[in-house]
Amino acid sequence: MGGFLRSALTVEEAAFLDRAAAFTANTVAQHANEWERARRQPVEALREAASLGLLRLETPKEQGGLGHRYLVKLALCEEMSRADMAFTFSMVNTQNVAARLAVSPVAQHREEHVPALMSGALFGATALSEPGAGSDFSSIRTSAQKVEGGWRLDGEKGWITNAAIADLFITYVQTDVSAGWRGIACFLVDARKPGFTRCPAYDLMGGHAIGAGGFMLENYLASDEDMIAPPGEAFKLAMKGVNGARVYVAAMCVGMLGHALETALAYGAERRAFGKSLLEHQGLNWSLGDVANDLEALRGLVAHAGHLIDREEDAVMAAAHAKKFAGRVTLPRLADCIQSMGAAGLREEYGLHRHLACAKIAAYTDGSTEMMNERIGAGLLKAYGPAA
Ligand SMILES: Cc1cc2nc3c(=O)[nH]c(=O)nc-3n(C[C@H](O)[C@H](O)[C@H](O)COP(=O)(O)OP(=O)(O)OC[C@H]3O[C@@H](n4cnc5c(N)ncnc54)[C@H](O)[C@@H]3O)c2cc1C
Repeated sequence: MGGFLRSALTVEEAAFLDRAAAFTANTVAQHANEWERARRQPVEALREAASLGLLRLETPKEQGGLGHRYLVKLALCEEMSRADMAFTFSMVNTQNVAARLAVSPVAQHREEHVPALMSGALFGATALSEPGAGSDFSSIRTSAQKVEGGWRLDGEKGWITNAAIADLFITYVQTDVSAGWRGIACFLVDARKPGFTRCPAYDLMGGHAIGAGGFMLENYLASDEDMIAPPGEAFKLAMKGVNGARVYVAAMCVGMLGHALETALAYGAERRAFGKSLLEHQGLNWSLGDVANDLEALRGLVAHAGHLIDREEDAVMAAAHAKKFAGRVTLPRLADCIQSMGAAGLREEYGLHRHLACAKIAAYTDGSTEMMNERIGAGLLKAYGPAA
């Protein structure tokens, strides 16, 4: 096991990654096909991950977490996605909610919810998207209206990771349609309270361990304390979170592509055609060389963005570059790996079919490839223009 960021990790960080790698090999890789066939989220495996401390990743040490830096998160995402990106994405989403609530000024968020999320007693999700609003986040219509004793929330969220199992949803809502993005606020929504209705999880082409689905809010009363970010601040909070997420999604693509290449090489070294191994045929060898080439470029983009985030420098362009490149190369390069194995590449036992579906998911989550173009396009002059 040799993730690309491993060499940059301290002994303590590497030990954490070793735990994740062992869990990935012994549990995730063993069961991912079965979860996919059953189209279900493996709650028991998420709880096992929690028992190993994997959901304590970013939560500060004073709150009972491990307080790891971003590079460790990226290394974890790469390592676990070699076996199952959908499971990894689901796990990281609960982890994100714990890390976010750990810095909440509200005692109940820090003292009750954070330990419950880190232990796997509760699961978390972050809800920006709606059936009618994805890329255009500022057009969300789920509303929050100030009432006696708090805020009344009404509307529907869609395409939310962990919607099938989550208890706590960091939920973005509109307080004033005429204010556009400035009207957006963010609340902690508790699925166990009245006014919350879970919708059935989506049937997808693959990646069901992600638990994507939606929920309805009808006359849901959120307390004033449950406002995590007020209008004006919430949009910025969302963009900051999404920016970091773009890099870990790209790291997940590194994991899937690295695993697919390794699988194709192992197969190609053994399988013979026309008197020699597949890898000895130049046409095939070059095709896998192209996969390795894109994989290395993606690794470099992810590592660069990760270092910027850890140094608290501006990583907006770097994150968009990593995510865009991941969205562009992962699917075709996975297909190249499968092609190099002939019909055998289609067999479920290799797990490459799940990577294909997840590569497509990665091209949407936390901003589509087209939105990365928009982001990069908007920053071109500043980053690369004559005065840069
Ligand atoms: C499995 C899965 C899990 C997800 N998990 C979450 C989650 O946990 N929380 C959450 O809030 N959301 C989540 N999402 C939603 C995700 O963020 C959205 O899918 C994404 O923002 C794109 O929105 P959309 O699918 O509505 O596409 P749309 O916004 O409807 O766009 C459709 C197409 O048009 C393109 N497009 C849109 N605008 C432009 C433009 N200006 N220029 C060029 N092209 C454009 C898009 O790139 C896309 O290809 C998840 C999605 C998936 C598939």
